[in-house]
Amino acid sequence: MDGEGLWLWRHDPTTSEELSEWQALSAALVSVSLSSGKDSWSWLGAGPKGYSVAAVKRLISSSRDFSDRYVMEWCRWVPKKCNIFAWRADLNRIPTCDALGSRGVAVIDDLCSLCGDGLETVSHIFSACRISLGVWEKVSLWCRIPRFFIFSFRDLIELHNVGVYNKAVRVALHGIVVTTCWMLWKARNNARFNGYRSSAEEIFSEVRVVSFFWYKHRAKKGVFEWGDWCKFVSM
Ligand SMILES: [Zn+2]
Repeated sequence: MDGEGLWLWRHDPTTSEELSEWQALSAALVSVSLSSGKDSWSWLGAGPKGYSVAAVKRLISSSRDFSDRYVMEWCRWVPKKCNIFAWRADLNRIPTCDALGSRGVAVIDDLCSLCGDGLETVSHIFSACRISLGVWEKVSLWCRIPRFFIFSFRDLIELHNVGVYNKAVRVALHGIVVTTCWMLWKARNNARFNGYRSSAEEIFSEVRVVSFFWYKHRAKKGVFEWGDWCKFVSM
C-alpha cells in the first residue's frame, strides 16, 4: 500500500478465493484510520488522566458485564461443595447418564437410579423424578411455602426469590434447596453405585438433619434448637 492509501499489487486478485479474502480484509480495515504520527500504547480502562492504580481499581470494581449470562446466587451457609454442585448442575456439567452419553461415554443403564423410570437428566433427577417430587413436597410442607411446580433446575435455585419472604426465611430456604439438591445427588450415587434406593422420606430426613447443623453453626448467631428448625421458626 502506498502512502496515499492505494494498493500496489503484484497482480490483481482474480480467483474467487482471492476476491473473498480481499473483501474480508477490506471489511476488517474499514474502521481503521492511519496517521503519520508515532505509534503509542493506549489502555482501554484509562480515565481522563491516563493509566493509574486508581483507574485500575475503578475498572475492576465497576464489574462491567454486558452479557446476559446467568449468575447463580451463592448460599453462604452451606459448604462450598454444595454451591459448586448446584452451579455445575445448572450448567448441565454433572455426570448424569445423559451428559455422559452426549460426551461419548457408553452407559449401559441410562435410566434414573432413584425411580428407575425415565432418562437420567438433570431436569429429570431434580424436577420430574417421583422420588424428588416427594422430597420437594415435604420441603414445602416443612418450610410452609405453597406447593411449587418446577420445570427446570433453574426454577429450583431461584425458588427463594419467587415468593414474598422476609430475608431470614429467604436465606434459609435458599440453603435448604441447595442442600436438598446435594442430598438427591448423593442418594442417586448411593443407588447407582451401592444399589441402595432411598425413599423420599429418608432423603428428606437427611436434608433436615444436615441442614440443621450447617444452619446452626454457619448461619445462626446465638441459640438455635432442633425443634425450631423442625417447625421452621426463629430464623
Ligand atoms: Zn427418577
